[in-house]
Amino acid sequence: MSYDLQQRANTLIEALPYLREYWGATMVIKYGGAAMVEPELKALVLQDVVLLRYVGMYPVLVHGGGPEISEMMRRLGKEPAFVRGLRVTDEETMAIAEMVLVGRINQDLVAAVNAAGGKGVGLSGKHGRMLRVVKQQGDVDLGLVGDIREVDPTLLRTVSAQGYVPLIAPIGVGDDGQTYNINADHAAGKIAGALQATKLIVLSDVPGILADVKDETTLVSSLSAEQARLMIAGGQVEAGMIPKLEACLDALAHGVPRCHIIDGRAPHALLMEIFTDVGSGTMVLP
Ligand code: ADP
Ligand code: MG
Repeated sequence: MSYDLQQRANTLIEALPYLREYWGATMVIKYGGAAMVEPELKALVLQDVVLLRYVGMYPVLVHGGGPEISEMMRRLGKEPAFVRGLRVTDEETMAIAEMVLVGRINQDLVAAVNAAGGKGVGLSGKHGRMLRVVKQQGDVDLGLVGDIREVDPTLLRTVSAQGYVPLIAPIGVGDDGQTYNINADHAAGKIAGALQATKLIVLSDVPGILADVKDETTLVSSLSAEQARLMIAGGQVEAGMIPKLEACLDALAHGVPRCHIIDGRAPHALLMEIFTDVGSGTMVLP
């Protein structure tokens, strides 16, 4: 056998301990950032997700879509409004957000999973009453922004068990019948907890948590929940990284043993995280 063929066989054999450990495991993946925008990267991520399903794991994908919502609003002649970096969601914004997240991004991901040979099922938190939300209470009123009160994972389990890959748009309904927008990172954390996932993996467009945001060489490869809380409280983690770490903390608090924030810009970042012990990104442990 040629050296090349031997190498290929080795690659598969090296994956064996991970295949054994994670057979039947639920992996909740928050999909966002550059990996969602660039077509080539997008195809690779969804190919990885399909592979996970075919080797016996249950991948569940939660996606965001902030930049596309803003773009669509502008195309429709409406200027996005933010208060301290947080989007203000009025009725019209909610309608546009739902149209973009559910009608467009979600369906596009279903098509990409199908193109990779999997069977994608597009869902929002409305389906099967999966995400029950309440209007977010804070010092600023952001409008139709919801916090998840309860996750019913029944539909996800059913869909996954039948061989499908569920793809979730972070939108939910309140007891008031109102549709609410939900932060996708927070939704992923709650869903990971409700499913008792083996891992929550958040794709980002940075190497992971950085000790100094401006220096990509300062990657923190492992953090305890306590250290993560201190980084948030101390202002070392800012803006879009805050909900990602909060999602990890929430998942850990609900029994998910490990959370990872990884660099979605690296091709096959997901496979490297799951099938090697090189350990990309930041791992957050209880
Ligand atoms: P997404 O679109 O995937 O939700 P965000 O832009 O919302 O991504 O969040 C990721 C951003 O968080 C990074 O691009 C980075 O600028 C910022 N960030 C803030 N603090 C940190 C930190 N300590 N380490 C890494 N990134 C950080
Ligand atoms: Mg974000």
